[in-house]
Amino acid sequence: MAPATAGRAYSTAFRSPNPPVPATVTSPVHSRLNPQQRRAAEHPPADGPLLVVAGAGSGKTLTLAARLAWLVQQGADPHRVLLLTFSRRAAAEMARRAGRLLHETLRLPSNTAPPTLPWCGTFHSVGARLLREEAPRLGLARGFTVLDRADAQDLLALTRQTLGLAESERRFPMAPTCLAIHSRAVNTRQPLHELLLATYPWCREHETKLQRLFSAFTEAKLQQQSLDFDDLLLAWWHLMQTPALAERLGARFDHVLVDEVQDINQLQADLLLALAGRGCKLTAVGDDAQSIYAFRGADVRHILAFPQRFEPPARVVTLERNYRSTPQILNASNAVIALAAERFDKQLWTERAAGCKPRLITVEDEAAQARGVADAVLAQREAGLALKRQAVLFRAAHHSAVLELELVRRGVPFVKFGGLRFLEAAHVKDVLAVLRWADNPHSKLAALRAARLVPGMGPASVRRLLDHGGPLTAFKPPSAAAAPWRMLTSLLEHLRSEAAAWPDDLARVVAWYQPHLERLHDDARVRLADLGQLVHIAAGHASRERFVTELTLAPPEASSDEAGPPHRDEDYLILSTIHSAKGQEWNAVHVLHVVDGCMPSDLATGSAAEIEEERRLLYVAMTRARDELSLWVPQRFHVTQQRALGGRHLYALRSRFIPESLLAHFEVLQPEASEPEARCMGAGPPLLDLAAALRGAWP
Ligand code: ATP
Ligand code: MG
Repeated sequence: MAPATAGRAYSTAFRSPNPPVPATVTSPVHSRLNPQQRRAAEHPPADGPLLVVAGAGSGKTLTLAARLAWLVQQGADPHRVLLLTFSRRAAAEMARRAGRLLHETLRLPSNTAPPTLPWCGTFHSVGARLLREEAPRLGLARGFTVLDRADAQDLLALTRQTLGLAESERRFPMAPTCLAIHSRAVNTRQPLHELLLATYPWCREHETKLQRLFSAFTEAKLQQQSLDFDDLLLAWWHLMQTPALAERLGARFDHVLVDEVQDINQLQADLLLALAGRGCKLTAVGDDAQSIYAFRGADVRHILAFPQRFEPPARVVTLERNYRSTPQILNASNAVIALAAERFDKQLWTERAAGCKPRLITVEDEAAQARGVADAVLAQREAGLALKRQAVLFRAAHHSAVLELELVRRGVPFVKFGGLRFLEAAHVKDVLAVLRWADNPHSKLAALRAARLVPGMGPASVRRLLDHGGPLTAFKPPSAAAAPWRMLTSLLEHLRSEAAAWPDDLARVVAWYQPHLERLHDDARVRLADLGQLVHIAAGHASRERFVTELTLAPPEASSDEAGPPHRDEDYLILSTIHSAKGQEWNAVHVLHVVDGCMPSDLATGSAAEIEEERRLLYVAMTRARDELSLWVPQRFHVTQQRALGGRHLYALRSRFIPESLLAHFEVLQPEASEPEARCMGAGPPLLDLAAALRGAWP
């Protein structure tokens, strides 16, 4: 969080009177914008960069989309506009919104499609695309592999072992910690020495060895023509530091539009600055109260320092009218964020008609929470609110487990965002490894994964394969593996040949993989269905490379096997982690586990800064709701603690972010007094002496 001085900077820089609104109404879209929004949407690019900073639901994303439409109307080429967002989902939503506004603004006939926006994506996906296109000029193979976090960790662990750091030093940090340090150093651009002192003091003594590990790790990645997520940004930045390449890149884009700019890290901030330095006109929108990615090196100070990083400073427009939520939801959310230790005051107001107060519902346990949410969701659907307009949000992916079972039991279709990902599943990784190996013969990780699938290829043969430098056909597998090995090599030959065709390639790989899947997994049927889904997704991607890269960067979430993935036009409930719900809105929102230990997460009870980030997470969750908001407080430990308190209900577990003083903003609902009592252990004589009954089975 920003220090107090940043607060002063904010109040002077961001409170400056907004300049007058242009007189002309340019299009039906723009006539719907309020004066501040229009000022931002129609900010003349020649006047320098623009920052819109405003609270949740004030129309930042809409204004960014409207600005794009306005720029195109003024003659900008949509193919030369770079639109950066933070998730693939947000990028798709932005492309959809902007496309619609463009259509309207340009007054295109209804049967024509709006102009496409080829450069709308996340920082990482845009970075990967640029690097692929520039690969020949960077000494990089075009087919380079993007390593996901798990792959990067495997490779780092391998390097750690090779250097002898694993055995000789019992206290040397484990691979996940090493990767976290590496990633933070890259993204915050902090020298390792400083970073260790500030954030990982217990690893300080290992600085020299960590340095050695990281340089060997980089070497290993380069040898294998592989880049991890952090490398994508870092390599892009290096590209921008090389005049000839920076010029090519600068000449590619006229405008750069960034949503959710509060969550950028130092490296991303430097990238934006470098693009602006090459003549790209910059617009950024964000909300400091919604900064929730500090754990990945994001820093809210970037948004505050943004205007001053330009000469003359960027123009700042503030938006103060909230269009999303009822006054009751807005007041409760504002009250929660008002308790933040450091905050930048924003007076959000709304003209929306009054609704009901948000509900704060205490229930006995998780099961009661799941039943309560399912009841409420179904009741809303009965009342005419489609499932898609309702969402259930939670801090950690596993918080929804009990609810998922309840929904499956009741046949309520749902889609979960931010949960178990396809890529984490072994069978999907296996199939992708073959595609990756086909694209990048240097990738030892891919080779290792694919070769291990061949029956008869033991660890020694796989090792021999990894050390084998020549063409694959020259490799002699053990005789037991000869036939299945031949099938794999001819598949690879096909994939690397002119005859390869997308998305047929993937179907071929799946066909090759199926017998191995059946041999290796008991639940082959379910896994095969996942692969069917993968083939389906593949059809939406232009090429094999694009598919593999996109999937690695932002894998689609696996849906519940039992419920079956709902079809696009079907109605389904949204389940999402709060992080994945950023920027979205629903008419009715339920937030699960609003209890200490979940919010704030017990993983984050360390520093004050972490606690503040957890508070902002609750704020993000609450501000997703338009009309109805329910916060659930399951009392999980009522049995023993209630007895200690003489049988009274225990409300102490409610999140500390909603103290007594805020209760007036909520309709507070408690469980029936008698119900938990009746279920309490020891509330009366046991109905069954289970121990005796069980012992009776073994007299
Ligand atoms: P967040 O901080 O959550 O990302 P945001 O500031 O980006 O929110 P938007 O998602 O752009 O806000 O807008 C919130 C809602 O308000 C949307 O439903 C949007 O259509 C609506 N809205 C925004 N501006 C206007 C306007 N001028 N007139 C009518 N509706 C508006
Ligand atoms: Mg938004």
